[in-house]
Amino acid sequence: MRTFIHVCLLVLLISAGSKAKTIKLESDLLTVEIDEGTGRWVLLDKHSGTRWPSEGMAKPGSATWLEGDFVRIKTTNKKSVRLQNKNGIAVLFALVDEGKTFELSYEGKAEGSVRVLGDALAITDIEDGYAIVPCREGLLIPANSGKTFQRVFGTSDYEGCHMNMLGLIKAGSALIVTWDDAYVFAELKSTTPADKSYRQKLTASLELRRSAKSVRLTPLGKGDWNTIAAGYRRCAEKKGLAITLREKIRRNPHVELMVGAVDAKLWTCLARRMNEQSTKEESVKVHWTFDEAAQIAEHLRKDVGIERCLFMMGGWTEGGYDCRHPDNLPANPECGGNDALAAAVKRIQALDYVACLHDNVQDMYRDAKSWNPGYIEKRSDGSLITGGRWLGGRAYMVCAPKQLELAQRPQNLPAIKKLFAPWSYFIDTTYAVGPRECHDPNHPIGRNDDIAWKIRLSDYSREMFGIFGSECGREWALPHSDFFEGLVAVSGRYFHNLKPDDFGATVIPFFEMVYHDCQICYGKYGYAAERGAEFVAHHVLCARPLYYHSFPDHLYWKSTKNREREQTPIPDMACYTRSYNGWAEGMHPLDMFLKNTYEVLGPLHSATAHNTLSKLEFLTKDLTLRQATYGRGEDATRIIVNFGTKEAQVESTLGGKVTLPPWGFVIEGPRFAAFHARRWNGQEYGKGALFTLRAMGNKNMKEADRIRIFHAFGTETIKWKGGLYKVQREMVISVP
Ligand SMILES: [Zn+2]
Repeated sequence: MRTFIHVCLLVLLISAGSKAKTIKLESDLLTVEIDEGTGRWVLLDKHSGTRWPSEGMAKPGSATWLEGDFVRIKTTNKKSVRLQNKNGIAVLFALVDEGKTFELSYEGKAEGSVRVLGDALAITDIEDGYAIVPCREGLLIPANSGKTFQRVFGTSDYEGCHMNMLGLIKAGSALIVTWDDAYVFAELKSTTPADKSYRQKLTASLELRRSAKSVRLTPLGKGDWNTIAAGYRRCAEKKGLAITLREKIRRNPHVELMVGAVDAKLWTCLARRMNEQSTKEESVKVHWTFDEAAQIAEHLRKDVGIERCLFMMGGWTEGGYDCRHPDNLPANPECGGNDALAAAVKRIQALDYVACLHDNVQDMYRDAKSWNPGYIEKRSDGSLITGGRWLGGRAYMVCAPKQLELAQRPQNLPAIKKLFAPWSYFIDTTYAVGPRECHDPNHPIGRNDDIAWKIRLSDYSREMFGIFGSECGREWALPHSDFFEGLVAVSGRYFHNLKPDDFGATVIPFFEMVYHDCQICYGKYGYAAERGAEFVAHHVLCARPLYYHSFPDHLYWKSTKNREREQTPIPDMACYTRSYNGWAEGMHPLDMFLKNTYEVLGPLHSATAHNTLSKLEFLTKDLTLRQATYGRGEDATRIIVNFGTKEAQVESTLGGKVTLPPWGFVIEGPRFAAFHARRWNGQEYGKGALFTLRAMGNKNMKEADRIRIFHAFGTETIKWKGGLYKVQREMVISVP
């Protein structure tokens, strides 16, 4: 990390030439050369010696209003150059951010969008180029995959750019592109021409529409994805986005209970399905009464030993899940009504679990008491904008300022707070749906307004309940919320609709590299635990607790379905659901999986929650063996995960030569260690065993005289400091 401020040295040079003058903007980190007549430019990263573009010069942008020759006009700022064409459009080239960043912006009455950077930021396979896209956890897209594609990652859109940036690397030199406006649409395009010196070219271009008028390029010198994450974190801090969990805990002490907490969610206490028009009931079912919900929480705490939990309830509302929004009260009588829900919240929070109620103010249904087309977003022809077809019927999209207005009505959030007092509130879809536009003359909004209103809704809900979260997650929401549900993963996969393979991409925990210490994050949508080994491995690398959203109905653990599955296909995708010879043997399959994964991911998150992922490394050429280091120095936690389908050999400080099965891992931190391995510390474990070790009494692993050992499955013998211990479930050992 650079610890000193670079003093900007500005040199303006006019090169001698009869017509084309080259103007130079320079700091000690970068040089921008600009052709005065054409506005073409090139950026030199002085630390790495890399030019962007690699050859020739880049256009100032492509748009009809940018055509024609330019003449130089005055700027008040000596660190900038302003060129104007005959249309009266000016392009401003400026050094900002103490000379670290080059900003390109447009001034004047421009009709229509401009496309820029496609030429400047092209990277090829022979330059060993790759791009980083901040979509959910993050995509590493190499320029040598042989794949051709074209895809727009709109700002804050669903599976678009979830941070206002792109990262690019070529010839070992790193650069970030950043912007502020929600009308920026980034596009990645890969071509594989047959007639060039390179085999594949990857271009990143930005389309700037409406209010979007500027982009910034920050060259970072020699580096990789780690450099990009660190460089972007600096930008995020300057923008006030990197509000840390420590600050959020100061804001509301209950946030501390979210550190290392699982996300357990009863989606639909009452599930009522309505027809498309919301006029006819198609089915109605009570999955859990409020009393049963409280019993599940108590079971998780007392029988399964889950110490920290975000316990969320959906379908508590008057109509049942998703029905009749935004009119929630009273809590539905089918599940027990207001008093039973209040009692359940009290019992859940008596366990020090964070109780959370699931709500939605974006979707409105035709059978809602408050139904009024005046609230709904309009197209330019005045027609109403509809959303998805959910349990409540066809949803109509409430315009963002109206969402806040509805949430603030006395019968909405204020009454819910008064009746039930949960420590946390969740408003679905707020951070998932991309920025919206509305043409209702009474409440017209654009994409930036939509975000601004959703920020107000977040702040209002958070101030009302203390902790606030919403679906998926966007960078702009970080200062205004505490948790994201859906950022880490979706339905047992990395993404919802996006397929990383289409881009030849590897999913990397880029979000954790920039923001791990700033937010509580989970995945969303149910998944099959018995096919979830890679999914669990992904959560280990991200150091994120899992979410459990597929609870069977009622008091599920009392059912007879508690046999462990027999078959073990190779590779074993069901490995984390097993409890042979271990702690949860004989328990309900959900409890086995919950316990196995919680015992690893809960303490892992607690150990890393106040750090970022400071270094991500690929230990093999095929990128399947990955090492993530959270924090630095003595306090660092090192995680190695095998994403390959064959076993892998790694070296670790505590475990020596470790053999990892597919989706196995080894974790070593100052006070917590864990492994799912076939060999660890000289002990052989056949197909694999899972153990965790926690140092007791605030001492480091190496000095602790008491170690709590947990055993999930496999051979129950573990070696520690020359001693051999048999731990079938859990045990605190005294180390001589
Ligand atoms: Zn509107």
